[in-house]
Amino acid sequence: MRLILLGPPGAGKGTQAVAIAEEFNIPHISTGDIFRYNIKEGTELGKKAKSFMDQGLLVPDEIVVAIVEDRLKQEDCKGGFLLDGFPRTVAQAEALDNAIAVMGTSLDKVINIQVDKEVLIERAVGRRICKACGATYHIKFNPSKGESCDKCGGELYQRDDDNQETVTRRIEVYLKETLPLIAYYQEKNKLAVIDGQQHIDKVFTEIVEVLRGDL
Ligand code: ADP
Ligand code: AMP
Repeated sequence: MRLILLGPPGAGKGTQAVAIAEEFNIPHISTGDIFRYNIKEGTELGKKAKSFMDQGLLVPDEIVVAIVEDRLKQEDCKGGFLLDGFPRTVAQAEALDNAIAVMGTSLDKVINIQVDKEVLIERAVGRRICKACGATYHIKFNPSKGESCDKCGGELYQRDDDNQETVTRRIEVYLKETLPLIAYYQEKNKLAVIDGQQHIDKVFTEIVEVLRGDL
């Protein structure tokens, strides 16, 4: 299964991606996670990406596209993959179309997780992530039982770009750069829209129903 999760920052893409990847046994590829890993490791890519991420701006297409092209060539992507946070521009979507065509295959579905703007800000600002395993929590909507990660006991942290000002900018960037992808994939008959303002488990159930219906 070759999937894309589309939706504004804070929509719940990462949360759903972990569960979908497990359900369908496909690798979860998050470009944001790849950048955060490189920032943590202090790589050149990380330094470059951080300057854009801290401002709530997109990392330039040529950098992101090269990373995803490389990742899709890896063995574990042969049987399918789930892209989370990529593509974010029409240029990225076109590059992805080419990469998938070169693989001799095609995209199965694009899931658009829809959430209102006011909800997005509260979700992103309240997000907490485990430093060790990357699990995502929310201080109000999906809290950990204690101070640390329920899954591995790791320390929870708040992303540098999850503050009110940067989240607002990221939503603006989404509306300008990424929203056109809804029409892009609708025209290709690949789009499914899911109400992301339901409980996490309900969102997941609806996504699985859509995907199983396609099998
Ligand atoms: P994205 O990857 O789209 O930016 P996340 O999956 O990280 O979004 O979710 C953003 C925040 O909202 C996280 O703190 C997460 O725990 C919380 N969240 C995700 N889905 C829901 C939901 N359906 N209802 C309430 N909170 C949610
Ligand atoms: P995310 O983890 O998906 O919220 O992404 C965090 C940040 O990483 C974004 O605000 C961008 O700065 C950068 N980023 C992630 N994916 C992309 C992408 N496909 N194109 C450009 N920038 C990206």
